[in-house]
Amino acid sequence: MDKKIWLSSPHMGGGEMKYIQDAFDHNWIAPLGPNVNGLEKDLENFLNEDVHVAALSSGTAALHLSLILLGVGPGDYVICQSLTFSASANPIIYVGADPIFVDSEIDTWNLCPNAVEDAIKFGISKGKKPKAIIAVSLYGMPYKADEIGELSRRYDIPVIEDSAEALGSTYKGQKCGTFGDFGVLSFNGNKIITTSGGGALTLKHKEFKKKAVFLSTQAKDDAPHYEHSSIGYNYRMSNVCAGIGRGQMEVLQERVDQRRANHQFYEDLFQDHRGFTLHNEPSSDFYSNHWLSVVRIESKSGITKTQLSHKFAKENIESRPIWKPMHMQPVFKSAAYFGSKLSEKLFSNGLCLPSGSNLSDEDRERVAAVLKSVMI
Ligand SMILES: *Cc1c(COP(=O)(O)O)cnc(C)c1O
Repeated sequence: MDKKIWLSSPHMGGGEMKYIQDAFDHNWIAPLGPNVNGLEKDLENFLNEDVHVAALSSGTAALHLSLILLGVGPGDYVICQSLTFSASANPIIYVGADPIFVDSEIDTWNLCPNAVEDAIKFGISKGKKPKAIIAVSLYGMPYKADEIGELSRRYDIPVIEDSAEALGSTYKGQKCGTFGDFGVLSFNGNKIITTSGGGALTLKHKEFKKKAVFLSTQAKDDAPHYEHSSIGYNYRMSNVCAGIGRGQMEVLQERVDQRRANHQFYEDLFQDHRGFTLHNEPSSDFYSNHWLSVVRIESKSGITKTQLSHKFAKENIESRPIWKPMHMQPVFKSAAYFGSKLSEKLFSNGLCLPSGSNLSDEDRERVAAVLKSVMI
């Protein structure tokens, strides 16, 4: 059997070990230390806006903390994009709130502004204006930040920007992770850069960052003994993991370029073939890191996403259906939903293709051979 080709696997840059060695040399083997501070600085410099960064144990922790910082609690409504990974929505349940799921629009596959407004009006009609909007930049494609930002200001509802998949993407030249009142990044093993497991929260005010770090390190009050006046969490990033992150930051732009080259490779392959439509940037306002390249397979192609996925699997190549929308998930079946059926349609025929920045020419040839064998 040929070696496995993964959808998206870790890709070290070579600079990581020096930071890890430094952590060992100075015994900073803890959820604090120079690499944690260094990674936060690296991210702040990269994002290049007036944001503060708190390095955390995961993107999920960042989402959870942002809901806590906004004071979201039992019975509150939170609007959330339906077409996303479950980690965008689960923290709404952690704080006891109720999600209202919202459909996608066709350009970016992210939040449909009209459906968001319907969801806001629904909450208001129940006497409970939603407390937050979780907007996702799915597969690296920035959401329509102007339209969602306008709704956020008009109704005075903060945005939590889930850019777990979108580090390195930009909208109108501004980096993803800097649009929301809070921004969420992930460095899980499958993301564009990784710390093995980890994430970060971006915040607009220094005071919020202090609060986030306080809550993520068990909420110890300033006292000689352990005094607690709030509930804390163990959500800080380890200094060893942050060392991996510092090395990865050195190659972030290279990783974006490599993923975008994969997307171009697919674009070239699908050209002149019927029924394969790649998820592309809708205009020059959008610059996607193309974390994953995703194709919609229409019936005129003569094949379904499931059949194609099986063909890939036979050749030891991983592919995956796009995220199953949250409003279709058994665990969220009682949640409210606004929109039409676009996310359901995207789920029915969308397939994520091997997209790792570490794909070799030989890997791409194997992927191309499968596609060429089925394309009309
Ligand atoms: C990966 C991911 C998360 C969660 O990040 P973790 O670091 O794995 O907890 C959240 N939202 C989206 C859209 C993701 O892809």
